[in-house]
Amino acid sequence: METSRVVRVRRHGGPEALLFEDRPVPEPGPGEVLVRLETMALNHLDLWVRGGIPGVRFPLPLVPGSDGCGTIERLGPGVLEPAEGTRVVVLPGLSCGRCRRCLAGDDNLCASYAILGETRDGTSAEHVLLPAANVAPAPPRLDDDAAAAFPLTFLTAWNMVVRKGRAAPGTRLLVHAAASGVGSAAIQIARLVGARVAATAGAPAKLDLARRLGADDAFDYGDPDWTAKARAWAGSEGIDVVVDSVGAATFAPSLRLLARGGRYVFCGATSGFELQADFRPIFFKNQEILGSTMGRRADLLRALELAADGKLVPVIDGVFPFARIGEAHERLASRRNVGKVVVRIAPRD
Ligand code: ZN
Repeated sequence: METSRVVRVRRHGGPEALLFEDRPVPEPGPGEVLVRLETMALNHLDLWVRGGIPGVRFPLPLVPGSDGCGTIERLGPGVLEPAEGTRVVVLPGLSCGRCRRCLAGDDNLCASYAILGETRDGTSAEHVLLPAANVAPAPPRLDDDAAAAFPLTFLTAWNMVVRKGRAAPGTRLLVHAAASGVGSAAIQIARLVGARVAATAGAPAKLDLARRLGADDAFDYGDPDWTAKARAWAGSEGIDVVVDSVGAATFAPSLRLLARGGRYVFCGATSGFELQADFRPIFFKNQEILGSTMGRRADLLRALELAADGKLVPVIDGVFPFARIGEAHERLASRRNVGKVVVRIAPRD
């Protein structure tokens, strides 16, 4: 019997909780496709599924992993495309496809919305089963590493910059954690829509990356004067949009920099979950505080078209072989990464 290697989490823990197991190659059911993965890319969700997170119950045992690139190996009953052999990227947002929200295009607001690798087995595996709607042809311009690194972070960044932030030509937009997957994607998307961009990060190589991606300026948040420098960059009106995933450490200074009518958009809180704010300036200045998770599948398809044109390019920190996926997890957890951490599933010659 042909077997397929997966990494499964049975109990939360450190990298040692990532258990290699061999299972039979799964059969696609009605409406599903079987993808043989070449590469996968890590997100913070992978670390949460492995290590656990207070207040969230993951259905263990579970194969983590939301992002991936591979080849369609088999089609389930009733599925006509993509054809076997098509090179595809994984679209990580799962939804029912039938409800009012899904039919309106707001699939990320579906009551059953979930992320691959969070509620069903994900991409830390040689094979993954997916609904046929959760794959799209991989842009030829992106190699397997880059294609795997693209979906979740560019979808997240698009929703923050375009949908929630409503960035437009001339918008003054500040991106925190510029060298993270979401940060490096947000800078590119904001530049593409004509926004003026500045960024923060915590190391010289990360600040250089922000500038290379098109930020006018980049501030080290270890520098006690970074808010003064950001204010000088933004001008007297302040910053129109802040894109944040850091949370507790960046929330208060971000609000102080925010213009009248400004939007603070956040997709996570890697530095802590408790936010404290004085409500008065927020309503006096007509400001908005906007939470964001994932985004519309249609927006991801649009971002993939822009990647096909070379206008959006994921930043890759490093590539690890499948056997060393634990080290890849540690690299992401260390926050020393500049861009995405990729894991090569298939052996290369
Ligand atoms: Zn739905």
